[in-house]
Amino acid sequence: MHITSKNKKKSSKNKTRKHKLDKLIPKITKINDYSVLFLPLPNCKIFYASAIIYGGNIIENKNNSGISHLLEHVIMDSWKKCNKKSCFHYWEKYGTYSNAHTGNTEIKFWRQGLSKYANDIMDYIATIVVNPFIYQKSITKEKAAVRNELTTYFNNPVWKLNNFMDKHLYTKDGLIYTNDWPQQIKNLKNIKKNDLIQFAKKYFHQDRILFVVAGDYNKIQITNILKRKLKKKQNIRCISFNPSCYTLQKKVLFVKHKDAKNTKIRIYFPSITKTFNKDSHYYPFISQLIGSSGNGILFDELRTKLNLVYGAKCNLLNNSCGHFFFITISTLDKNVLKVLFKFFEIIEKYKKNTISDKKLSHFKNRYLFNNFNVKWNSSGIASFFEDTIFYQLRKSDKNILSYNQILKKIKHLSKDKIRNLIRSIFNTEQCMVGYIGKKKVNFTIKDF
Ligand SMILES: [Zn+2]
Repeated sequence: MHITSKNKKKSSKNKTRKHKLDKLIPKITKINDYSVLFLPLPNCKIFYASAIIYGGNIIENKNNSGISHLLEHVIMDSWKKCNKKSCFHYWEKYGTYSNAHTGNTEIKFWRQGLSKYANDIMDYIATIVVNPFIYQKSITKEKAAVRNELTTYFNNPVWKLNNFMDKHLYTKDGLIYTNDWPQQIKNLKNIKKNDLIQFAKKYFHQDRILFVVAGDYNKIQITNILKRKLKKKQNIRCISFNPSCYTLQKKVLFVKHKDAKNTKIRIYFPSITKTFNKDSHYYPFISQLIGSSGNGILFDELRTKLNLVYGAKCNLLNNSCGHFFFITISTLDKNVLKVLFKFFEIIEKYKKNTISDKKLSHFKNRYLFNNFNVKWNSSGIASFFEDTIFYQLRKSDKNILSYNQILKKIKHLSKDKIRNLIRSIFNTEQCMVGYIGKKKVNFTIKDF
């Protein structure tokens, strides 16, 4: 292809931009005591703004469990400019895209759209979070939406296992009821407008929020909007961002489901080590090595070699409670016992022995392959940094690495280090095994 001088210039400019982003370690800016993460992306056509708030299920109790989720729905419509209608209608003509989610230790709101709407998007995100205008009409509407959402979860009986395991896994009331849909549906009826207003007032303030701004925007204008919207507040009480959430008990739990066609197994490895500690950059790699679907160690041993399962996956959850690895396996009822014994045998094997050179090379290449696909657009760069920074908001010595530094760490990861990581992560003394199916098997805490 013939390259014109104009194209050449553009591609070298893109290269410099990419080069700079690879090395970026962003810092927090304070605006009226609120934390803001500015991620400038010259020439980016899409603007992205989000707010992450420390809260979610963890700050609830049995009788208001689900209030964060309802508030999350209602707040999306709490911008006065939407003029008492759904904000969906207000934003329709702008072609923007938005969503929110409630997690165990956070609530997050975000909106993205064309750069020319950056100021409106920023105004919206800042206002709904710190100064929401809650309408009774939207509460009634969103209660119905949440009820519909929660009842769909009943279709998959695995919720019973999740709920039962939560009751044993967590120490905090709010987390204990995270997956208790019947309790949350019951609570919905009793949550009043004033409860939502007071809840937002109590928890949505500068100590607990991180705003993220990404794209090609006018920083002075965005800063001015934030200065106007984010008013200083007095007497904010500092809360701990590293609560102890887990009972760390060794247990085996069974949930009977008489119509089940097979058995679903979950194995939890919670940890109270700080969420972004010195080893945490390796955790996604370890999670892939153990249980990426299709080629992880578990899949290789349990399915390819032994034909015992259909799938075996390892997931990693990072939040304010610490990091949490969990395994999900589906198997035929007749294989449950065999799979459980085999699983712990595999884990013990890789605690004692290092993985082969072939496996090491395979998983490093896979990791690099997946990570070279990171897209440096506004939402891509935001998702690369926002959680890492949010969960360390209070830490003075934050552990934040650039994209290049992470890749370098993985390239130099040794087989011994991997074995040591497996030893520390998969601590069977704090491990909880749960399964849902037709039949209970003879497997107890003495067996792992
Ligand atoms: Zn929802």
